[in-house]
Amino acid sequence: MAFPGFKLTWQGRRKIKGGVHLESRKEFTADKPIVSDLLLPERLYLPLQQHAGQPAEPVVRVGDKVLKGQLLAAGQGSISAPVHASTSGTIVALEDFPAPHPSALPAPTFILEPDGEDRWVELGPEADPFGLAPEDICARVDAAGIVGMGGAAFPAAIKLSLGRRTRIRTLLINGGECEPYLSCDDRLMRERAAGIVDGIRIMLHSLGCRHAIVAVEDNKPAALAAMLEAARPHGFIEVAAVPSLYPMGWDKNLIRYLTGKEVPANGRSADVGVLLHNVQTAYAVQQAVRFGRPLIRRVVTVSGGAVAAPRNLEAPLGTLLSELLAYCGHRPDRTVRYVMGGPMMGDRLPHPHVPLIKGACGILALSAGEIQAEDAKPCIRCSRCVTACPVGLLPLEMMSRIRTGQTDAAVGFGLEDCIRCGSCSYVCPSRIPLVHYFKYGQGELMARREAQRKTEETNRLAAEKQRRLERTRQEAAQRKAQAQAAASGGAP
Ligand code: SF4
Ligand code: SF4
Repeated sequence: MAFPGFKLTWQGRRKIKGGVHLESRKEFTADKPIVSDLLLPERLYLPLQQHAGQPAEPVVRVGDKVLKGQLLAAGQGSISAPVHASTSGTIVALEDFPAPHPSALPAPTFILEPDGEDRWVELGPEADPFGLAPEDICARVDAAGIVGMGGAAFPAAIKLSLGRRTRIRTLLINGGECEPYLSCDDRLMRERAAGIVDGIRIMLHSLGCRHAIVAVEDNKPAALAAMLEAARPHGFIEVAAVPSLYPMGWDKNLIRYLTGKEVPANGRSADVGVLLHNVQTAYAVQQAVRFGRPLIRRVVTVSGGAVAAPRNLEAPLGTLLSELLAYCGHRPDRTVRYVMGGPMMGDRLPHPHVPLIKGACGILALSAGEIQAEDAKPCIRCSRCVTACPVGLLPLEMMSRIRTGQTDAAVGFGLEDCIRCGSCSYVCPSRIPLVHYFKYGQGELMARREAQRKTEETNRLAAEKQRRLERTRQEAAQRKAQAQAAASGGAP
């Protein structure tokens, strides 16, 4: 598809590996405006851990009255993010509550009872971001609790501060949204393009970088047009149409396609001078740096065959997914699978009674007709999985090794490089759930490494204790010898 006026850097010059054309299923929600005026629920559930890294540390107590945007828990450690109140009300508990995770195991969570007033805490003064030093921008982003909102939930301030240590030549803004069903980024680009572009300019200022590319899949012409219009006054922000091919949003794919650079196998995008952020993250940065607003709500797609009125909602963090589904006409009797995120890489949830968190871009209630049949047949060695793999792996070989308990042999075939995108499972005519094997294999490797780390730690502590005992014994022997010497020297 041609888009007049777009500067399509590298397009057509660098091919992407593998990839699959998925049924988009975005039409259920893509043409409906974001709904922002939801009624507040009776209770909000705010987990202390909504991000990669260490959980936040509570700074308020049960019984405290809090205001909208007030800090509830501060980030701790080198990788963490604070948590804020999504509305005003009372903290009625800090207790374990099911987490939005495939296990739904309970995790420490603030329970906030809204008072209905939705009264803001006093926010810091509005600032001209371009009058701020880069480190002040990072401090504001950090204080606002912003994390990667495309799903990774890595604290955004840490990535932004990279500009002080590494030369970043290109800021890549991911508006690809390549997973089926999801359209929250599409809607945000159509409705708030100016805010996103402002956020991009702020991030560029913070990174000391003069070039940004906004990547939008070519199946989103309205979003492309809106972003192009908003970016037009700023020649250093390009808007690029990328093919709607899954997983185009994978950072290494985007970087290769748009800049021609190859991120090394175990490297990071910053190693090739590129930093990647999601469009919602850019918008959150603008809100935080310009207006002092912390991250307390997000736009999320609620969809699936068991949802009568799918749409994009801008919802307060901490709202139960079951309540957001109910708002969209959820049919629990028709639901065979709940997913947080997209159907390919999202997390399957055992139930929807878990809270909305910062990295959740989708809530799906899927019906039987939308789920791939799981009656696997033997591999016919057709190699479609190999062609589809964006990383260039041999999925059938990895799978056969894992199935026979040879996880180390699967590592030799690239198990650790697998990004668990599910493209291989999607194309497999034998319906072999290849990606499940890889998740299992990677989980086993992680468990093994964790066990090894614990053993090494135990051995280290034991050796340290032994050294301490030996030192004490030697000191005691030395004291005894000195006392005996003193006694014999002093004898008549
Ligand atoms: S796509 Fe499926 S059947 Fe074909 S080679 Fe891969 S695992 Fe075997
Ligand atoms: S899940 Fe892993 S092996 Fe399968 S296509 Fe994706 S990266 Fe390749």
